[in-house]
Amino acid sequence: MADKEFDLIVIGGGPGGYAAAIRAAQLELKVLLIDDRQDDNGKPAPGGTCLNVGCVPSKALLDSSKHFHHIQHDYTAHGINVEKVSMDVGKMIERKRKIVKQLNGGLMQLFKANKIEFANGRGKLFSDRQVEVRPHDGENYIAVGKHVMLAAGSEAFSIPNVEIDGKIIVDNIGALEFDAVPERLAVIGAGVIGLEMGSVWRRLGSEVVLLEAMDDLLPVVDPDISKAAAREFKKQGLDIRLGAKVSSAEVSEDKVKVTWSDKNGEQSETFDRLLVAVGRKAASEGLLADDSGVELTDRGQVKVDEDCRTTAENVWAIGDLVRGPMLAHKASEEGIAVVEALATGHGHINLDTIPWVIYTDPEIAWVGKTEKQLKEDGIEFRAGSFPFAATGRGLAMGEAAGHVKILADAEDDRILGVQIIGPTASELIAECVVAMEFAGSSEDLARIVHAHPTLSEAVHEAALAVDKRAIHKTN
Ligand code: FAD
Ligand code: NAD
Repeated sequence: MADKEFDLIVIGGGPGGYAAAIRAAQLELKVLLIDDRQDDNGKPAPGGTCLNVGCVPSKALLDSSKHFHHIQHDYTAHGINVEKVSMDVGKMIERKRKIVKQLNGGLMQLFKANKIEFANGRGKLFSDRQVEVRPHDGENYIAVGKHVMLAAGSEAFSIPNVEIDGKIIVDNIGALEFDAVPERLAVIGAGVIGLEMGSVWRRLGSEVVLLEAMDDLLPVVDPDISKAAAREFKKQGLDIRLGAKVSSAEVSEDKVKVTWSDKNGEQSETFDRLLVAVGRKAASEGLLADDSGVELTDRGQVKVDEDCRTTAENVWAIGDLVRGPMLAHKASEEGIAVVEALATGHGHINLDTIPWVIYTDPEIAWVGKTEKQLKEDGIEFRAGSFPFAATGRGLAMGEAAGHVKILADAEDDRILGVQIIGPTASELIAECVVAMEFAGSSEDLARIVHAHPTLSEAVHEAALAVDKRAIHKTN
């Protein structure tokens, strides 16, 4: 017999779960949201990986470290002489914590304002949508939902013989909390986290070595973009070693000896800190009772169809827990789409137009297909690209590295993919996503007036370049 009944029970209060809970409440569903995260003072810390140990805190540190780097390296070119610059790491970390806390508090207020019942504790799904709720503070109880949404997110992968101790060997959580700049930092994995967090500590003065198992850097984008990225990272002093497979890491006397093999055989070097950033796995452990009826894939993700329906009736799963990119905006939009479909009969998310952003300097952003994917799919395309170095705004800002590249269908000119490496790529990609969502062509972007001087002119010119009629470069 249930202690409590709800229209929707959401397990996991990350960007997927909390956005779904808020939208459900707006649609007048009675909602229970369960999230287990707490801050250092034992207060609820909703917002999931993204807010607490992911997107938001990493961007706070990226911004702080970017200021520090700019002051030291870029201001003199503007005629600004700054003497005696120093970094207070403690203050930078405190600023990041404050931002996170402010947003945790904001979410708690939103839950209250939307009359969402919030339980700070663990949730576990049993048969017939019964959820056992184990609050950190209070008695356990059973709640039953007409619908249940699983939004438990993900956690960092580990690798054999490399034990995360949270101090010398860390994952994303520890890398956001160093109390001083490590003299030498090794990072296993030159993926998104490795490049972002490696950039933070490099800008603050660490000697950063990234050990990447693959032979290519960022194979998710086309080689012209990854080559431009590799060039810029090298200039910044990021030491990226490709084809390096780590076999062990041993801690002794506050140092860590990392051993890997590459084309030259086995190598070992000693570092002050080691960040393990080799991908993330669905956090499905402890979420499901044996009788829940929810099946997992062999990778531990919850099995869902294209509408996020699991194998149990009226149980849905979204975000990092299921297939598709592990991104906060994908999780949020997926949760909202499910809730809207439940309440109104209409809800949809287009997984083909989800933008990706890597917040390095320069930023890297992309949407849709790469050249490699189009060739594999046998789709004929035309490509147009344009460098930021040919824009007045990029030069005026002193941030002219990188380019925009647009891929359009050779027959009907529909935009199939866009990749950008350059300043504010994270913002510029939005225009391209909108164009793709409206089935826009490169001609559409080319005919739209873009303000001058702006960085968005590089998008405009890349669209013109698809038809070999860019104005500020030879075609
Ligand atoms: P999560 O955010 O993981 O939230 C799930 C929540 O559920 C967690 O709070 C978890 O503790 C809780 N939970 C799990 N099981 C239970 C249970 N049984 N009972 C109660 N609670 C439970 N993505 C971007 O789009 N942009 C970025 O810039 C970006 N930066 C990132 C930087 C880092 C360092 C990391 C690690 C990730 C980053 N991501 C970024 C990825 C992003 O954080 C995830 O894609 C996103 O958080 C997924 O949202 P979610 O709601 O599915 O899960
Ligand atoms: P990732 O998949 O981006 O990169 C992991 C890298 O580690 C890969 O290049 C892989 O080849 C390498 N690797 C795996 N095993 C290895 C080994 N034994 N030795 C050396 N290299 C090895 O994963 P991540 O960087 O951990 O990030 C996880 C996910 O979090 C991302 O895929 C992304 O979905 C999300 N994220 C997003 C953002 C963003 O949107 N800006 C930022 C951070 C994280």
